[in-house]
Amino acid sequence: MTIDTADLKRMFDTIAEAIEADKDRLCRLDGVIGDADHGIAMALGFNAVRDALASLDLAATEPTALLNTAAKSFLNAVGASSGPLYATAFMRGGAAIKGKATLADADFIALFQAMAQGIKDRGKAEPGEKTMVDAWQPAAEAAAAASVAGRTLAQCLEAALAAAERGAEATKDMIAAKGRSSRLGERSLGHIDPGAASAVTVIGAMRKGLAS
Ligand code: ADP
Ligand code: MG
Ligand code: MG
Repeated sequence: MTIDTADLKRMFDTIAEAIEADKDRLCRLDGVIGDADHGIAMALGFNAVRDALASLDLAATEPTALLNTAAKSFLNAVGASSGPLYATAFMRGGAAIKGKATLADADFIALFQAMAQGIKDRGKAEPGEKTMVDAWQPAAEAAAAASVAGRTLAQCLEAALAAAERGAEATKDMIAAKGRSSRLGERSLGHIDPGAASAVTVIGAMRKGLAS
């Protein structure tokens, strides 16, 4: 498929809707090993993105500019750690497709991989440290592998979602080494990381928003 700025806007709208619906669960998860604001932070961020994109002239906007607008509005709206992490993801995603008026499937996979790498670089977290990286990195790897194997974008994002779900679930058995929950040490064991949980929601909504 070919993805244009209207498709990207619809994708962000779908994410905002999914995160809003998941807000309370994400706050509850963050209440166990953090400060209970993760759902609120993510909803503030994606609602701000939705509002900012609503005022863009999509026909006159390139995908990179749309992602930069998303980055700026997310960062300005969110005071929590997830703010700079997702802002960097959108900025890096935009940089990966610079100069393109529309995106082919492979371009979107490159964008998706750059988002995951951006989160990893910004937070300096490695897999196994019980963060959103434990969902994003395997998701990006699965999407890239499916793309190389010649799968459609929908199938690539399906594979990414499944990998993110497995990655998020695996954070239960990890001791937090980054972010607020790292202060708990071993007491973080047994609980899913809220940022990994919200990554599953974001990736699921990306798939839904682009496929529909
Ligand atoms: P805060 O902890 O500032 O309240 P949020 O509640 O919005 O921020 O987000 C918490 C989530 O952010 C964690 O569950 C984790 O997934 C993610 N996170 C925190 N620090 C890092 C980091 N250094 N690298 C990657 N992800 C991180
Ligand atoms: Mg928090
Ligand atoms: Mg907080």
